[in-house]
Amino acid sequence: TMAHSKAFLVLENFIGGKFVPCPSYIDSYNPSTGDIYCRVPDSGKEEVEAAVKAAKDAFPIWSSKTPLERSQILNKLADLIEDDLEAFAQAESKDQGKTITFARTIDIPRAVYNFRFFASSILHHTTECTEMATMGCMHYTSRTPVGVAGLISPWNLPLYLLTWKIAPAIACGNTVVAKPSEMTSVTAWMMCKLLEKAGVPHGVVNVVFGTGAKAGEALVCHPDVPLISFTGSTLTGQCIMEKSAPHCKRLSLELGGKNPAIIFDDADLTQCIPTTLRSSFANQGEICLCTSRIFVQRGIYSEFLKRFVAEAKKWKVGNPTDPTVDMGALISKEHLEKVRSYVKKAQAEGAKVLCGEGVDSLTLPAGIQKGYFMLPTVIAEVKDESCCMQEEIFGPVTCVVAFDTEEEVIKRANSVKYGLSATVWSSNVGRIHRVAQRLQSGLVWTNCWLIRDLNLPFGGMKASGMGREGAKDSYEFFTEVKTITIKH
Ligand code: NAD
Repeated sequence: TMAHSKAFLVLENFIGGKFVPCPSYIDSYNPSTGDIYCRVPDSGKEEVEAAVKAAKDAFPIWSSKTPLERSQILNKLADLIEDDLEAFAQAESKDQGKTITFARTIDIPRAVYNFRFFASSILHHTTECTEMATMGCMHYTSRTPVGVAGLISPWNLPLYLLTWKIAPAIACGNTVVAKPSEMTSVTAWMMCKLLEKAGVPHGVVNVVFGTGAKAGEALVCHPDVPLISFTGSTLTGQCIMEKSAPHCKRLSLELGGKNPAIIFDDADLTQCIPTTLRSSFANQGEICLCTSRIFVQRGIYSEFLKRFVAEAKKWKVGNPTDPTVDMGALISKEHLEKVRSYVKKAQAEGAKVLCGEGVDSLTLPAGIQKGYFMLPTVIAEVKDESCCMQEEIFGPVTCVVAFDTEEEVIKRANSVKYGLSATVWSSNVGRIHRVAQRLQSGLVWTNCWLIRDLNLPFGGMKASGMGREGAKDSYEFFTEVKTITIKH
């Protein structure tokens, strides 16, 4: 009924600087309660068409602005998001299920920083020039924005990952059509409300909400969108490659992972254990960089396992609004069931679940008992061939296994289709360098996790993706390069 529907937050697409309603909507759930609380436009071809047109129309003016002019606008937008940090953090936590603490300290500060970072880095690129004295020539390169960029992002770090694409795309002079995940669209919609005040001209940033199959595909298949930057699952990445092949689109694909932690017997366990807990369970294990295969050298295996499980049991799962909670709700009912099914499969194969799902009981306070919660789960005695050791689970489930030698563990760590990130724990510098060199992984953290310098490349090998993002990498991706030869 109308009276009832008034209680929902209703989002609208943002096209050409205006909020426009959509004929049909998708329900969006609050993961902590299981209730519908928001309606997201179910956009399709028509909406995407309008957004691409607005972006095309805005391109000539935006692309002819100087980097400094664009930089000032990006900085202003960063300030405006920062002024509203608390409201953004509350919205992200409610929409995604993540803890308010995580949203306040990681998601939204990073979204702000993404704009500041590219506002700064865009001012410092130089192009190449070479001379060929014998031919009487010099050559130089020039870079120009590509056009309308299609940006598609996932639900795990909604505003964080979307702005990691929007910021470099517009800093380079492109205009964009962005499609956030249909499950977490609220903070992108909130950001749209700030664009005009920041001085972003109409049509430079357009946001079309909806599903992957409808809105996402329409964007990927649109002939006037020459470039797609996508973060999400490997399966969707493959589908996007296929659909964009007839148009020869430029693609950046940041896909899934099955990230190992390798812990040698000379590791400092007082640092390694809390960090590996975080790397396994932060954001409910819903980070592409989360650890889900922990290889521990035989000599410290039982001690590690005992201490790791004891600490995992101390993690507090509960209402994301409670600042003392370590883990909130998973994104959806379907996802929770998928994650749980992996634990069941492991048990059926003879693995041991040491804590969490199916072993310990989870008591939730009133009001969130229908939420999509589960406990941090540690599995041992699992074979390398098991689906739990091969497939991305993307939840609070981690497997711990023993190894003997360096040679052996490198081989086992590399024996999955993915290659996104890895962590190595040892106090032997030589070994750290040797192992880091040989891991098939786009990122290797040693004696730490998740420390990033945005200047440097980010991205995965093998099924974890194609291309890299970072100061120089994103600049190269979002610009077209030309080599010009002058004979004098
Ligand atoms: P997903 O692939 O299901 O969806 C990602 C986005 O793509 C969503 O916006 C979705 O609507 C859209 N989409 C789905 N099908 C589409 C299609 N056919 N055409 C166009 N768009 C389509 O991924 P998800 O479940 O939202 O996110 C989780 C996945 O993302 C995990 O695999 C995780 O590892 C990965 N991820 C990777 C990184 C990275 O940087 N490598 C970062 C975060 C998440």
